[in-house]
Amino acid sequence: MRIFTASLATETNTFSPMYTDIHSFYDSFYAPPGRHPATPTLCSAPLVACREIAAADPSLEVIEGSCAWAEPGGLLNRQSYEQLRDEILQQLQQAMPVQAVLLGLHGAMVAQGYDDCEGDLLSRVRAIVGAEAIIGATLDPHSHLTAQRLAAANLLIAFKEFPHLDFMQRARELVQLALAAVRGDIKPVMSSFDCRMIDVLPTSHEPMKSFVSKIRQLEQQAGVLSISVIHGFMAGDVADMGSKLLVITDNQPERGQALATTLGMELYTFRGRTLPQFNDIASALDLAAEVKGTTVLADVWDNPGGGVAGDGTLILEQIIARKLSGVAVGTIWDPMAVKLCFAAGEGAVIELRFGGKSGATAGPPLDKQVVVERLQANAEQQFADSSVPMGDCALISFEGIKVILNSNRCQSFDPSLFRALGIAPEQCRILLVKSTNHFYQGFAPLAEQVIYVDAGAPYPSDPRHNGYKKLSRLLWPINDRPFD
Ligand SMILES: [Zn+2]
Repeated sequence: MRIFTASLATETNTFSPMYTDIHSFYDSFYAPPGRHPATPTLCSAPLVACREIAAADPSLEVIEGSCAWAEPGGLLNRQSYEQLRDEILQQLQQAMPVQAVLLGLHGAMVAQGYDDCEGDLLSRVRAIVGAEAIIGATLDPHSHLTAQRLAAANLLIAFKEFPHLDFMQRARELVQLALAAVRGDIKPVMSSFDCRMIDVLPTSHEPMKSFVSKIRQLEQQAGVLSISVIHGFMAGDVADMGSKLLVITDNQPERGQALATTLGMELYTFRGRTLPQFNDIASALDLAAEVKGTTVLADVWDNPGGGVAGDGTLILEQIIARKLSGVAVGTIWDPMAVKLCFAAGEGAVIELRFGGKSGATAGPPLDKQVVVERLQANAEQQFADSSVPMGDCALISFEGIKVILNSNRCQSFDPSLFRALGIAPEQCRILLVKSTNHFYQGFAPLAEQVIYVDAGAPYPSDPRHNGYKKLSRLLWPINDRPFD
């Protein structure tokens, strides 16, 4: 059996000024055939899962195509999308005949002229491999589920957890189900339900935690092959934005539809009560002052993982104003300031302007006399089994505050980002990170308290005020009663 695998993924915040092009992929992750590392990335895990399973099954021949991932950002340049798409399609053409194509996708990629990049890619793959081949993909739950994708693919499986720590398990599931389908042991049929809502749905907290456990139980039933919750991605202005339920059965479409509807309506009852407590900046800093141990402050709406710059200074500005010390910030994206620090050298004391440069809503740039404490070329942090490049980084300090400046935009996944620059995170009073929820599993064990801080910008976090132009149907909370 011959299987082709490749990956093309990013998450597009159509409201973000951080436009995405081919260099955004080269900076984050780009592995042409034969150059994919042994470790998986969030969206190229199907390739690594194919390798694992083929190592134990000599009848399986895996043909590896290119894998590319760009840090979430603004609209993807049309030529860059077409170049990467066509590279993969040409590799597939050359690999034919294949019995299955397994892709690592994100599901919220939007390019100029393509509101549904994944639907476009999957349809072109179908045109090459024909009706009989099995096409499957892993998806990020922060994606859009479109009819074009459902029509083109046989198996779509989203990560169950947010934080997405289960990406490797989902990839293995995808490969196993695809092999069973090619062998004729199962006939996967996808059924979906539109929950007509958009919200943020962390599975590290209730009620989503128990909902995911329930779904895992339901998947144990004979005939139920996979259940995915598409959370949706509110920063993407496309027709299908919103939460959806996706059930794959072994050729039982009516049962699948009933299950998707029941679970989808249960998800709908969770709307507006899935988030942990969010605090404004002032109350968050009051809370931080109350404890002796480490407080983790999460700047939830300046999270590069949602496609914004990650150079915001709104919270840091207030930390400075309150003269708080023992503070470490990881990270502020500022490649220009990093370059200046590298030029000045370790130990230099310089006047530096940093942060707050990407737009009007993320706070002002800060001007400080700083010590360049440490320089680290090609720094990395860990996220589950993957390494996340932070690019060249500079650690600066001033007034009892340490700030890591990075040159590759990336969200704060894990305490290893501080250790990469020589900071012991458990010895800090305050750790300020930029992440909505992916930071949680890594940081919670070392924190006396975790505080989610809503600084109000720059992510478009209130769907009622985002002014969607392409949304095709009523959605909560833009509409109070979308099912009426
Ligand atoms: Zn996601």
